Amino acid sequence: MSPRCDVAIIGAGPAGSVAAGFLVRAGFRVEVFEKETFPRFHIGESLIPRAVPVLLELGLDLEGLPFALKKEGALFASEVTQREFRFDFSHALPNCFPHAYQVERALFDQALAEHSARLGATFHFGHSVSRWEERADRVTVFGNWGQTECRYLVDASGQQTLMSKAQGSKELIRGLGRSGTFTHFRNVASPAARQIFRRGDIIIFLTKNQSWGWAIPLTGDRLSLGIVTKDGEAVVPAEDAIRGYLRASPLLQSILVGATQSAPLRRIANYGHYNRAPNTSRVTSLGDARGFLDPIFSSGITLAVFTAQALARRIAPTVTDDRPFDLESYHAEMQRGYQTFERIIDRFYRPGWAHHTFFMEDKPDDMVRQMTTILAGDVWRHDNPFQNKLLANRHTSVWFEDAPEAEAEFSEANTRTALSGNGAAF
Ligand SMILES: Cc1cc2nc3c(=O)[nH]c(=O)nc-3n(C[C@H](O)[C@H](O)[C@H](O)COP(=O)(O)OP(=O)(O)OC[C@H]3O[C@@H](n4cnc5c(N)ncnc54)[C@H](O)[C@@H]3O)c2cc1C
Repeated sequence: MSPRCDVAIIGAGPAGSVAAGFLVRAGFRVEVFEKETFPRFHIGESLIPRAVPVLLELGLDLEGLPFALKKEGALFASEVTQREFRFDFSHALPNCFPHAYQVERALFDQALAEHSARLGATFHFGHSVSRWEERADRVTVFGNWGQTECRYLVDASGQQTLMSKAQGSKELIRGLGRSGTFTHFRNVASPAARQIFRRGDIIIFLTKNQSWGWAIPLTGDRLSLGIVTKDGEAVVPAEDAIRGYLRASPLLQSILVGATQSAPLRRIANYGHYNRAPNTSRVTSLGDARGFLDPIFSSGITLAVFTAQALARRIAPTVTDDRPFDLESYHAEMQRGYQTFERIIDRFYRPGWAHHTFFMEDKPDDMVRQMTTILAGDVWRHDNPFQNKLLANRHTSVWFEDAPEAEAEFSEANTRTALSGNGAAF
């Protein structure tokens, strides 16, 4: 009996839906099994520019869609020093896409799934995958509907990380265990808010005690507000965490004048992890199921959709030639993007580095361009000196506990020296 489909995909998040769209375009018969019915709530509303050309290539233009607000940059604001620095995506290195969008995830994910369904992928909602059996020439996927035979399987199950759990290959990234508490506000129309909505920027607030927060403007004068704290602080009730944060932030108070909370408080513990064995002969993992990092730089969706497109390109020849996956070099190439974000996240939590690098007022233009390119998610290129220095240095996890040492090592002077190519402060 020949398999019912060529590729079965677990999960209709951005990774699964984008992979499905590109794979049907390459000629595969694709079936997506999604345990929820859409639209369903999902956190992660801030896209960065590198995701946009991927979606455009798939044929999905977010411009003007009712759930997508154009986003021109990212504003970093320190509640500790009162310093701010804004990165404008149009000031990145050449060929970097110049803007992104803030999206309401429930509708964004639904639009992506519907788009890939129109391209020819079959979506089964309310279909929860429980396990699979891999043989030399096929995979049998089991779930609440029964079973399906396919030639290849893609695990895009997000934080459920089905493949790495089944294999025992899930590895937590030290120091990235964090807890996010978030909600939405409506009628966000104060003069300070209008400034933010005009450019659609995300605001990233640095607060005391290793915490940071996001404010993401959404269509319809709504604002997504969240704080991310170290896991130990997750014991603080969600209500207290958000209220305390609002009390401590004059900028947020001015943005939220006249606004009202419009969604329940939600909390997610987002432990950074990798699937250290991301593929077998016929199964591979994608998106959060392959690796998840702290969300500080809004990298999740971009990592998911870029690597989904690249996967479809890589396995396109197997549409006619039923050979096992050969994905070692694919995963190695994709790791460049994950590792870049992992390293800049690591540095970001060193207070000296973050304050001197992100908030340095008279940053050289080159430095701004190179940093902006990373913040735009254009992290699979090889011509960015800032990125290359980050990657060249051995990975060390230095967190706030190490502040004095980090502060000394990453003084403003050292940062400048490193950027000019003479030092090794990275
Ligand atoms: C607090 C927080 C804030 C974030 N903010 C941002 C942000 O601003 N920007 C950004 O880019 N990213 C952000 N992220 C990360 C982002 O949400 C994820 O990286 C992104 O959703 C990954 O897409 P995915 O398709 O891999 O997984 P998901 O979007 O999670 O999709 C996985 C899908 O698989 C389905 N599924 C799971 N198990 C099964 C099963 N057994 N059978 C069938 N289906 C199954 C799920 O229902 C889900 O629909 C944030 C994350 C957190 C925790």
